[in-house]
Amino acid sequence: MKALVDWYRRSHRDLPWRRSADPYQIWVSEIMLQQTRAQAVIPYYQRFLDRFPTVEALAAAAEEEVLALWAGLGYYSRARNLRRAAGQVAARGGFPREHAAIRDLPGIGDYTAAAIASIAFGLPHAAVDGNVLRVVARMENDFADIGAPLTRQRFRGIAEGWMGRLHPGIFNQALMELGATVCLPANPQCSECPLARQCRAFQAGTAAQLPVKLRRTEPVAIAAELLLVRRGGRVLLRRQDAGARRMAGFWELPSPEELPAARGGKIWGSFRHTITHHHYTFTVRSAAVRRTGANFRWFAAAELAEIPLSTTARKALRLVRFL
Ligand code: SF4
Repeated sequence: MKALVDWYRRSHRDLPWRRSADPYQIWVSEIMLQQTRAQAVIPYYQRFLDRFPTVEALAAAAEEEVLALWAGLGYYSRARNLRRAAGQVAARGGFPREHAAIRDLPGIGDYTAAAIASIAFGLPHAAVDGNVLRVVARMENDFADIGAPLTRQRFRGIAEGWMGRLHPGIFNQALMELGATVCLPANPQCSECPLARQCRAFQAGTAAQLPVKLRRTEPVAIAAELLLVRRGGRVLLRRQDAGARRMAGFWELPSPEELPAARGGKIWGSFRHTITHHHYTFTVRSAAVRRTGANFRWFAAAELAEIPLSTTARKALRLVRFL
């Protein structure tokens, strides 16, 4: 595996979080990188650290401000947990230095705990995400289902075996980088791979069939409507309440069910939005109301940068050229 680490040192992408060994900065980057590509994360990461340069600054922030900076990254429970965990870290006077204690913080799973423990503290835990599972499956030519917890556990053991005496943080980043840039899902670049000589799938010609992931949930198509209610250059938004769990605290265009007395008008168009296996098609329709209820407020376009605005509201307001 020394060839892998040498390759990483020579050719890794220069990403801002790679210049840091600060557990707080590594943690923020790892949480943002879950479900989001590195290039898309960079501006969010930089804005977030400009505003909250330390874990204490994040711990002292209002949830609404944290969510506003997160808007567009999706999966907002990540931002809530980050703030909650920052409160715990600040209260105990600093970041825990053991893997199990890091793993106990809200919103931190095995992968993130291992990434922080290995990169910031040099602890020998393999950080196993989808990229790493793919590399392990191919290197071993292993057709086990990577969606199964037992397979993931076994693959983690294999990766830890490869780590040997290499620096755990560098090794983990090298393996993730290989998965993200060379051992690609659809089109692995085996001719450029530092591990090609050891790779069983490459030798067997089976790389394109790996990894195996059995489908567990069928996609669901859902059609829904959002109402565009405007008055004097402002738009009406509704704050999602705790009943909306995932999006609680975010501002959204109202649905017809939330504004039953609204009179519907022109249809502006529609857009798609996917949340895990739910594929939504939202139609945006003009509407007029006499009265609104609790949780509703009027906003000018310039005010929208200051509030946590849901991704669907952002897409709808772009569609109608309000944003
Ligand atoms: Fe992936 Fe190909 Fe490298 Fe094997 S040789 S690890 S399949 S890129």
